[in-house]
Amino acid sequence: MPKTAIALFSGGLDSTLAIRLMQVQGINVHALHFTSPFFGVSPESDSGKYDARRAAEALKVPLTIHQLGEEYLEMLRNPAHGYGKAINPCIDCHIYFLKKAGELMRTLGAVFVITGEVMGQRPMSQRKDALKTVERDCGLEGLLLRPLSARFLALTIPEKEGWGDREKLPQVKGRSRKDQFRLALELGVQEYPTPAGGCLLTETSYESKVRDIFSHKGKLASRDFRLLRVGRHFRLDGQTKVIIGRNAIENEIITGVKESSETLIRWEEGSSPTGLICGPASDKAIEVAAAILLRYTKAEKGAACQIAVFRGEEQEKVSVAHSMDEAAVEKFRV
Ligand code: SF4
Repeated sequence: MPKTAIALFSGGLDSTLAIRLMQVQGINVHALHFTSPFFGVSPESDSGKYDARRAAEALKVPLTIHQLGEEYLEMLRNPAHGYGKAINPCIDCHIYFLKKAGELMRTLGAVFVITGEVMGQRPMSQRKDALKTVERDCGLEGLLLRPLSARFLALTIPEKEGWGDREKLPQVKGRSRKDQFRLALELGVQEYPTPAGGCLLTETSYESKVRDIFSHKGKLASRDFRLLRVGRHFRLDGQTKVIIGRNAIENEIITGVKESSETLIRWEEGSSPTGLICGPASDKAIEVAAAILLRYTKAEKGAACQIAVFRGEEQEKVSVAHSMDEAAVEKFRV
């Protein structure tokens, strides 16, 4: 009877190749894909882009999509193994993913877990010692097979049991992608996304925005992090933040995501971005938020400008504000 493995599956080339390498050895594979505010394609996505669902269909493997929530965000706030060059907790992140994969393995009666990890490809999580740490801490010791680099690593239980023959596996390591492109040809993998893109947590420009949420929010919610993808962000005080749209699409998104406790602002007399005040919008907060918003309009310096304020669906009032200068705006930027 064929054995089943759970595959961590980003939809990218490496995890696709890991699955194909097992399939050609007669292993059934069930793919597990994670989405979060920082990476992955949301299950609701209907875009024509290449995504994990299409990639799983092409591989003819069932796919489970797991949306990461509060538990993952709490790990991100305080990762036991620290961060990489930005705010990417790659070792803890892999441990977290693999624990979930282990749970799915037990639920589905699968017998081991595979990943597309390549030894030496990433500085933090794919060094040999880091791969060992991850395996130890995720509770899958001996049951974790990394088909692309398995021949550089200790023998696993699936290999000892004869479910996967390491002699038939490639020897891929390091940052070059040449071996993967060659394998893709050999294994008939024709479509895959480019390696660019990926995880926002690895971007240094993102770090201060994430840390700002950690410093000001007790209970973490995915929405706070999803909003980081939209607009310019400014911190007014411990409880209040303002997000200013950078273009028409962002203005629409900001308007669409407004919750009843939040406040929208726009300059009435000229072309204006939309501002979303998250948190208590006192008169003072509205005045400061409006002054920041006016910086991104053609409002005359020093002129009193009328700002429309929407707390509910309807416009509540008109406030008067003056555009803030660049240096002052920067003091509020997250
Ligand atoms: S790059 Fe992002 S998704 Fe990948 S392991 Fe690191 S934190 Fe997790």
